[in-house]
Amino acid sequence: MKNKSTLLALILAAAASTNSVWADEKPFSIAIHGGAGTITKAKLTPQQQQAYRDKLTEAVNAGYKVLEKGGDSVVAIQAAINVMENSPLFNAGVGAVYTYDGAHEMDASIMDGKTMNAGAVSGVKHIKNPINLADAVMNQSPHVMLSGAGAEEFALTQGFTLVPANHFDTESRYKQLQDAKVKLRKAESELKAKSPDYQASLNGVPQIDYLDLDYKFGTVGAVALDKKGNLAAGTSTGGMTAKRFGRIGDSPVIGAGTYAENGVCAVSATGHGEYFIRYHVAGDICAKVKYQQKSIIQAADEVINQRLITAGGTGGVIAIDQRGNIATPFNTEGMYRATRKNGEPADVMIWRGR
Ligand code: ASP
Repeated sequence: MKNKSTLLALILAAAASTNSVWADEKPFSIAIHGGAGTITKAKLTPQQQQAYRDKLTEAVNAGYKVLEKGGDSVVAIQAAINVMENSPLFNAGVGAVYTYDGAHEMDASIMDGKTMNAGAVSGVKHIKNPINLADAVMNQSPHVMLSGAGAEEFALTQGFTLVPANHFDTESRYKQLQDAKVKLRKAESELKAKSPDYQASLNGVPQIDYLDLDYKFGTVGAVALDKKGNLAAGTSTGGMTAKRFGRIGDSPVIGAGTYAENGVCAVSATGHGEYFIRYHVAGDICAKVKYQQKSIIQAADEVINQRLITAGGTGGVIAIDQRGNIATPFNTEGMYRATRKNGEPADVMIWRGR
């Protein structure tokens, strides 16, 4: 009898340990981006390069820690995005670009692949971490997107504190705005000289389309697969330098800048938002995985390096599938990004060759 119960105890212990080994081996992973653009090696000093790599490592590790402990992918991506929103290096939160009128108008969105629920905010001016407000919209409101003053009114009902607009100021972004204005005026007068009707057709409105890539990028985002098999994606941005008239890009648009669906994929984008909206970039990548059974690598590559290039749209994405495979294609010079899979160290990259 005694032997039998010992045997039973041994079998149970073995089963429990097999279970926990199995649980630990469930794939989980995270990928983050800090924007894509003409980031040439010559443009970054070794110190700047190191600062980006350090912050990306901190951000990806913050999300990874949540996943490692068995936390939810929606929590993990916010942890990672918050680190980048709080850093002046990226165009989100502190360090957000300036509008034409010298303000900051931020957009963010989040999607939970388990519930297919989503939340977004656009044009907010006093929210320290816009991704957290997007999460509140997703979980505490019946809506998907809230904008401007209304979104901030909602934030107050959810216990958020509004921060002064100058919280987001940085000298480098301010200089970027001044440069952008000079370039815009120059482009306008050149075009006007070429075609006298041109100015009339635009009604005197400078067009941000004439700015180089660098004025358009720097968004942050994260995608993750947690141990329970749930996918999530989130994106946060200050948008494009010198934007006007309440312009909103792809980042808060579900299916364009952000998308997540369990069993399929999760995507966060960065790039020239108008193209990402029109080409439904995040949704299109997941549709290729879902309906054409393409791998995440192939699906993301086809959209970024074929469809978008043909269209003239620049940027990149981070994408993850149900098994934790990660794709990070971009059609620009570089894209700040980092990935981390279970049991592996963080992999931090800026260019194609790291
Ligand atoms: N996609 C963003 C926008 O168009 C910009 C970026 O990714 O940096 O607002």
